[in-house]
Amino acid sequence: MADKKEKIYRVKCKAYDSEGRGIVHFNGSNIPVEGLIIGEMAHIALKHTNEGTIGILKDVEIPSKDRVRPVCPYYDRCGGCQLMFMKYNAQLDMKQQIVEGLIGNFCKVEPVLGMEIPENFRTKVHATFSKGKNGRVIAGTYEPKSHRVIDINNCCIQDQKANDIVVSIKKLMQSERIEPYDEDRGRGILRHVLIRTGFKTGQVMVVLVVGSGYFPGKKNFVHALTRKHREITTVVINENSRKTSMILGEKEEVVYGPGYIEDELCGIRFRISPKSFYQVNPAQTEVLYQLAIKLAQLDKKQTVLDAYCGIGTISLICADSVREVIGVELNSDAVKNARSNAKINHKENVRFYCEDAGNFMKKREADGEDAPDVVFTDPPRSGCSKEFLKALAKAAPKRIVYISCNPVTLQRDLQWLTKHGYKAVTAVPVDMFGMSKHVETVVLLQRKDM
Ligand code: SAH
Repeated sequence: MADKKEKIYRVKCKAYDSEGRGIVHFNGSNIPVEGLIIGEMAHIALKHTNEGTIGILKDVEIPSKDRVRPVCPYYDRCGGCQLMFMKYNAQLDMKQQIVEGLIGNFCKVEPVLGMEIPENFRTKVHATFSKGKNGRVIAGTYEPKSHRVIDINNCCIQDQKANDIVVSIKKLMQSERIEPYDEDRGRGILRHVLIRTGFKTGQVMVVLVVGSGYFPGKKNFVHALTRKHREITTVVINENSRKTSMILGEKEEVVYGPGYIEDELCGIRFRISPKSFYQVNPAQTEVLYQLAIKLAQLDKKQTVLDAYCGIGTISLICADSVREVIGVELNSDAVKNARSNAKINHKENVRFYCEDAGNFMKKREADGEDAPDVVFTDPPRSGCSKEFLKALAKAAPKRIVYISCNPVTLQRDLQWLTKHGYKAVTAVPVDMFGMSKHVETVVLLQRKDM
């Protein structure tokens, strides 16, 4: 029930914070409010949280011309597409402003590279199975902070083929009487489905995650599914009986096709198995990598270090342009993938190491190895470690191309690097995740003494 005494304030949205929330000035302080667009007049209530006071949007009195009604019927419950209430161009403006606000002091921020069509771009799709009120099988994502599954028949940011396959699996479960797995009771059969589609190749992998080794009628089920969807090139059954938010368990059985799909990025072929890390928006990933490689100004005499290299994407794409590439990555599965990707693509001047990026750099220095000429660094959201940054400044490559998925840690790391011999030359935001508040940024840094 609404609190009758709740005080409501009339405010105007002036800016965005680093998380894409609107900022309003109130009693001399800046208060973040989710769901506002710059220029809008709105009514808010105040809420005190651990993070400080925030505003809760009650209604928008004067909406921006950029406000739209979210096209998705699940928008209110799902929480995956925080920015769907804005036109796409306004989303891009917001991301531009976030990046400019955080790193505009270091260098000029070029206009954000947006997606051509911000729809159906996610090539990795996951749905959890459950039972609806009427006993029918439902599939989709969890409501935020809950264990209730939302029954989603069509997600407008996901690959359309994958959406259709999820719906077919639901129908098949119904007709074949395959029960969704009940995590609390440890009963039932199918727990999740993970679908990955090849952007260039069109290959499709379906991973059916079961709660135990028991899957009656498995053969018929897979046969019916692959007959209905001829585009499916491989099906893997994965077993995950643990109470965990992880989707995949350890055990895997390939029941159809080769057990992996292949895809192509910037002319390089990548083999993707169920557990491989692979960017979820390949069209924009090509834009991102091409930009990063252009900024690096590579030539045949150079040694390149690709730090936080994942499955070796950047390393392999730039291999032919340089003398040698060294990739370093902490996750051993990713390193295995990287090595086999090097083989598939016949790249012999690339070596991958499984190690913490900072330790690796320190060791190389201690061993008296030559310093790289150019370094790509593409760390997780937490940014580069201090050890890595220190070792990087010591190695003193001519250029550093920093690819960041979190402008807040990017700002912190630029602060450090610009005090230790580097200047930021240019920055370009790239939109990898339309409808969400996340933004990717590429920054070129150069040694000051050059
Ligand atoms: N450049 C790759 C991967 C970027 S994601 C691509 O574009 O596909 C960031 C990567 O950093 C992940 O693969 C993660 O496993 C790796 N990573 C996380 N901490 C690390 C560390 N301390 N040292 C090296 N790699 C790390």
